[in-house]
Amino acid sequence: MIIPRLEDDKVESLIVVSDSRFERHFNNDEVGLARSLGDHITVMLQQANLFAEIKELEEVKSEMIRMASHDLKNPLLQVKGYLDLLLKTLGDKLSEQQREFATRITSGTDKMNNLLEDILNLERIESHSTTQLDTINLRFTLHQVAEALRPQAELKNQTMSVSIDSDDAYLMGNELQIQQAFNNFINNAIKYTPEAGSVMVRGKVEDGEFRFEVEDTGFGIPKDRQDKLFERFYRARTPGTEDIPGTGLGLSLVKSVVQRHGGDVWFKSQEGKGSIFGIWLPVNPEPPQKQETN
Ligand code: ADP
Repeated sequence: MIIPRLEDDKVESLIVVSDSRFERHFNNDEVGLARSLGDHITVMLQQANLFAEIKELEEVKSEMIRMASHDLKNPLLQVKGYLDLLLKTLGDKLSEQQREFATRITSGTDKMNNLLEDILNLERIESHSTTQLDTINLRFTLHQVAEALRPQAELKNQTMSVSIDSDDAYLMGNELQIQQAFNNFINNAIKYTPEAGSVMVRGKVEDGEFRFEVEDTGFGIPKDRQDKLFERFYRARTPGTEDIPGTGLGLSLVKSVVQRHGGDVWFKSQEGKGSIFGIWLPVNPEPPQKQETN
């Protein structure tokens, strides 16, 4: 029995089934079965080809993003550097209006720089280009990150409390990325909470997990804008937060990092009342043995 395997009406290959028994004829059921097998093989091969194509495109895309971001960073740093120099040399000669223009240029270049940093970070994480594995003491890391952000909360006259259980919890992973994840959630809580509000950072070990959450009494997020929160570049832009700078990449970065470490993220938020953003990560009570990266 010879079954042609068709792709776009062209014969791509043949399936040949033979039976050495004398005067043996394939019945309709057997022919039907061979045909459907041929169809299945075609679909599987098409999917495998598509997958290979997508993977290749993903790699090209990552490389382009990396190149574009790097190439944009240098001229941007030049703009900023020369502007600083200009301001230094011209000193008092600038009028109030000229100084205002210069401030706007600085703020624009800072925004572009932050955006490029976030894109590069996300790209690095998603393309697995960071292979470093550290033994992370989560309690210690969270404490460090939270305390480093305290001055930012104080600048806004916010009350910041940090309560972390004394149980040790260790995770093998990339410490810098975990620091970034904690930093992003706490930084957001401070950013999206008005002057004199409160930010509460909590960390504890429970059921083999390290549970971190940060609660704030900030602007909160309306229900209809919560679905897309962890998507790249999404910003909820609620009343009161329009002028807060950001790229909309932070939360997607946190989610990606946390999921890569075997955990997950969650949040609850009420418009006008505040939000809680949380992370759980699988942990060991003892520092695990260092392993080779793959
Ligand atoms: P960015 O802060 O750079 O805009 P993120 O990805 O960190 O980007 O956050 C995405 C959006 O989620 C923010 O623009 C903001 O609208 C909302 N958001 C995040 N954290 C909070 C928070 N603690 N309170 C209120 N809104 C928040």
